[in-house]
Amino acid sequence: VVYYKDEYFKDVAKQKEIIAGFQRGLEQQEFVVHYQPKVMADNKTIYGGEALVRWNRQGTLIYPGDFIPVLERDGSICKLDFYVLDKACALLEDCMKKGLDLPRISINFSRKHIGNTCLVREIVEVIDCHKIPHEYVEIELTESEDFRDYIVMAKLIDALKAEGISTSIDDFGTGYSSLNMLKMTSIDILKIDKSFIPLEEECKEKNKDCIMFENIAHLAKALGVMVVAEGVETKQQYEYLKQMGCDIIQGYYFDKPLIQEQFLEKIKMGSY
Ligand code: C2E
Ligand code: MG
Ligand code: MG
Repeated sequence: VVYYKDEYFKDVAKQKEIIAGFQRGLEQQEFVVHYQPKVMADNKTIYGGEALVRWNRQGTLIYPGDFIPVLERDGSICKLDFYVLDKACALLEDCMKKGLDLPRISINFSRKHIGNTCLVREIVEVIDCHKIPHEYVEIELTESEDFRDYIVMAKLIDALKAEGISTSIDDFGTGYSSLNMLKMTSIDILKIDKSFIPLEEECKEKNKDCIMFENIAHLAKALGVMVVAEGVETKQQYEYLKQMGCDIIQGYYFDKPLIQEQFLEKIKMGSY
């Protein structure tokens, strides 16, 4: 038995509005891509950045948490991911023209793409259209709870690798079978979720968080997988993560996601 609440109706109306406005938003270029720098832990040089989409609706910036889950349910997310990939490649092309050192840009690809047998070819087409060397593009995938997906994901990761495109597992540790992901695929990079990053303030779980983080990082490194820590907010966290052998740091401690022009300025700077 489900009891009706007014909020349900409001939710449904909001979802319908998102779906209805999506195609027009895409055509009108209402979606903007921000880039959050990723920094080498040992020398603070900029390694690259993550492309994060926002929706500029009538002057109000809407964050992905408010529309991505709806677009995932609807399936439209696949179009948006390719739009973001195209924008990121255009940024790389711009960097090449300006003679800047190319950053490696990662783009989030929804699990909804799994099952698209032409996915790798379609990704390569976009990159080649901008004449970008493939190694500057990284695809971020999230874990799946469905065991059968691993076989498909393993094939996808290998096919991307054969094209020189690396893949990272985003939000590692929050899914159901993280270790299977490591065992069954030849993943290049792990992005350890911010919920595993030990917090600065004293909290009950701090000790446990440290033990888990250290061991996940050691396991990944022993397997030759690069470790990225995301959601790093303080100097203490940064120092700790560097000491733990974490390769790359992403988080507010260095910068929030930046508009393209600001990100390019950081690229010109080269390091923090
Ligand atoms: P994500 O891929 O795990 O991205 C990291 C999120 O953490 C971003 O939120 C970023 O702004 C936030 N973040 C970074 N550093 C810190 C920090 O130090 N502290 C805290 N508290 N947060 C930090 P954002 O931009 O709101 O994106 C949320 C999620 O939306 C992303 O999580 C990703 O799953 C999804 N997303 C964003 N853009 C795209 C896209 O183009 N396609 C798809 N499929 N998903 C996207
Ligand atoms: Mg991500
Ligand atoms: Mg993440």
